[in-house]
Amino acid sequence: MLRTITAFLALTCASTAQPLYDLLLKSGHVIDPQNNVSRVMDVAIAGGKIARVAENIPASEARKVVNLKDLYVTPGLIDIHVHVYARCGAKNSESVDPDAFSFRSGVTTMVDAGTAGWREFPDFRTRVIDRAHTRVLALLNIVGAGMGSDKEDDPAEMDAEAAAGMAKANADVIVGFKSAHYAGPGWESIDNAVKAGNLTNLPVMVDFGRINQVRNIGALFLDKLRPGDIYTHCYSGHRQELLETGNVNPAMWAGRKRGIIFDVGHGGGSFYWYVAVPAYEERFYPDSISTDLHTGSMNAGMKDMLNVMSKCLNLGSSLEEVIRMSTCNPAKEIKRPQLGNLNVGAEADIAVIRIDSGSFGFVDSAGASNAGNRLMICEMTLRKGAVVWDLNGRASEAWKTFPYQKESWKH
Ligand SMILES: [Zn+2]
Repeated sequence: MLRTITAFLALTCASTAQPLYDLLLKSGHVIDPQNNVSRVMDVAIAGGKIARVAENIPASEARKVVNLKDLYVTPGLIDIHVHVYARCGAKNSESVDPDAFSFRSGVTTMVDAGTAGWREFPDFRTRVIDRAHTRVLALLNIVGAGMGSDKEDDPAEMDAEAAAGMAKANADVIVGFKSAHYAGPGWESIDNAVKAGNLTNLPVMVDFGRINQVRNIGALFLDKLRPGDIYTHCYSGHRQELLETGNVNPAMWAGRKRGIIFDVGHGGGSFYWYVAVPAYEERFYPDSISTDLHTGSMNAGMKDMLNVMSKCLNLGSSLEEVIRMSTCNPAKEIKRPQLGNLNVGAEADIAVIRIDSGSFGFVDSAGASNAGNRLMICEMTLRKGAVVWDLNGRASEAWKTFPYQKESWKH
């Protein structure tokens, strides 16, 4: 009996000696807009999930502690407009590899905005989505052949039933539909994307293509789209978002009032200071910040998610608003409210951001620059609790005490 009790006690002691948490992010300024948190707190992670967010969590309760004093800790960023479906052989749509561009700028969730159509989605899924460490979701192009094909204006390719069927069969990763680049005279692209959206209860993202007398943003926002549908490239100016008077088109305000969502979608040709500055002066802010990442935008003015976020910060959005536009707002827009927050139990997708002060220049899609005094830099990114980007080795051990597994490669 005594032996049993002793064994029991030993077991209990051993289990209490076990750290509660795998990792403790200490003393960072936590910004979690969904939960209205913006103050210095600790974040504890266990089993790849957020285990606790509180002030002064004892370091002894974690196997590993990373000090993040003077840095910001936010939910992993969500970029809802990227292009990450590089096709084999044929025209590759300027797509990039998701993992090559996500974590280094704090992004843990990317939404491909219509690179793949409903015809080629299975290939996109097996070759890219299922292999990526980044969480990759998709807005399915209403054109079956997808983006960059010569079928982008072909109404026969815009099959709402086929698109809805593909979305239902891949409901874990398809979060809506995309109408893009349409240069025809009518509404086939929009009407079929909305029809697919209605069949699945999913949102539509619109790159409105070319406008004409009838096909204008007033009709789009008030007659065609539904509340919750997303208008990307909101500061492009290509569709009269800004009038010649320098004022925001009243159709934009009317659309916002009706519940249309306005997304940045910076890209290689869709963000200009001459549109964004007056829009900000009129307080027409974006609902979500996204990059429209592709090979044509990342080496030009767009660069990466944090550069686009820095632009909004320097335009006048508060840091909390900029984080909201890059975390819980886009999560809500794609109907994934479990993402973009630091709720206990959520997958531990986290960005650690440094904000440098100084003189910086931010370039738009035409190559024009605008000065700013703050620049957001990604210090660390965690995906499912694992450190997947660490700019300054904050989670690393110094080399002198590092437990190298030394190997000799002699023959
Ligand atoms: Zn795009």
